[in-house]
Amino acid sequence: MESIAEVVAKHASMVGSAPTMMEEVLRWDEGVSLVSSAEKAATYEIPGGRLVATYTLASQGQLSYYVDLNYQSAEGLAETEKAIDVTVLAEILEATQREVDCQVCYNIMLDPVTTPCGHTLCRKCLARTLDHSLHCPVCRRGLALPPSLSSQPSNATIVELLNGLCPDAIAARVEAVAQEERPGEGEMDVPLFICTLGFPHQPTFLRIFEPRYKLMLRRCIEGNREFGILMYNRYYEPQSDLGPVHFYHYGTMLRILHCQILPDGTSLVETRGMYRFRVRAHGVLDGYAVANVERIEDVTLAEEERMEALEIARPAVEEGDVSGQIDRMPTATLLALGREFISRMRGRSAPWLQQRVLDIHGQPPDDAALFAYWFASVLPISDEEKYKLMGTTTVRERLKITASWIRRIESQRW
Ligand SMILES: [Zn+2]
Ligand SMILES: [Zn+2]
Repeated sequence: MESIAEVVAKHASMVGSAPTMMEEVLRWDEGVSLVSSAEKAATYEIPGGRLVATYTLASQGQLSYYVDLNYQSAEGLAETEKAIDVTVLAEILEATQREVDCQVCYNIMLDPVTTPCGHTLCRKCLARTLDHSLHCPVCRRGLALPPSLSSQPSNATIVELLNGLCPDAIAARVEAVAQEERPGEGEMDVPLFICTLGFPHQPTFLRIFEPRYKLMLRRCIEGNREFGILMYNRYYEPQSDLGPVHFYHYGTMLRILHCQILPDGTSLVETRGMYRFRVRAHGVLDGYAVANVERIEDVTLAEEERMEALEIARPAVEEGDVSGQIDRMPTATLLALGREFISRMRGRSAPWLQQRVLDIHGQPPDDAALFAYWFASVLPISDEEKYKLMGTTTVRERLKITASWIRRIESQRW
């Protein structure tokens, strides 16, 4: 308001000539019974063009809220007056736009939110500063805001002001932000959470506290609710054509089922594994990894059966050759081996098969294609070992891996 007053004052003092004539027009649709119809409509003459004259009238408290004005220009001065109005409006816009720039991104505020300390910022900018610290980025006061800004209302007055003053600038800004966050076709459109292993059809619970991952999570929730989870590659073991990278290149796509934000900003996320993928190419977006991925699918059932027939027809192996024996087992036998092992372990009340674990992961699945994922999710062995399942393309291959784990556990070689 002060910025507008300054612009008006400058022009009011500049113009000394032709006054703008204004006549009050009563608007009956606004319920103006307060004003008597018999009363003669007031007229005013104030210099400075329509905008300046109207503002001056209002600032003097003479312009009733329920009143419209009819303007009349002095003889032959209509064009001059119009030119003045255009200049004044342009200056008002410039002065107010400066005031509605966000102090974080220095762009015009987008969906402005006002903090309890009275500072107004773009919703996204405020959310991103809160990812790092619970302090106002302008005045550094502690901010007692709800951990998720989604329930915090926008500043309606500023929103209305912006939409009225500069709809084009707002529209351009909305488009620019959408552009920034929208990856192109076939580009790095999968955000990656590099941390641990997840498996298809299994739940994964995550605790997210790093600022970059809070941002990633918020974007996922606003988007398709999916992100990839990958294991951290501590020793930078080469990952085929990607070379030595900080993650193992096979991962699982997770879908966010539920997210709870704690008062300190940490998020507890419940997800479910959807499918496996391999990273084709990767990059960085605002501090977290993004990738272009290729889905890993199992071979067809016909191909699966052909491979099984080939393997079980192989000549018998020596008694001590455990892996040779596993290779020759029919797929159904491999699954039965796993299921029997589970019931045996339950009979012995193995701690890793407590009710709590079964409540989370469910009973062992009957589906041979899914058994290995369930087994890997509950079995207390290293992630490096479980990772062997990630690149498999046959059900049989996965069940042979689980059978090898069982044999090793049984022979107490672990
Ligand atoms: Zn901003
Ligand atoms: Zn502040």
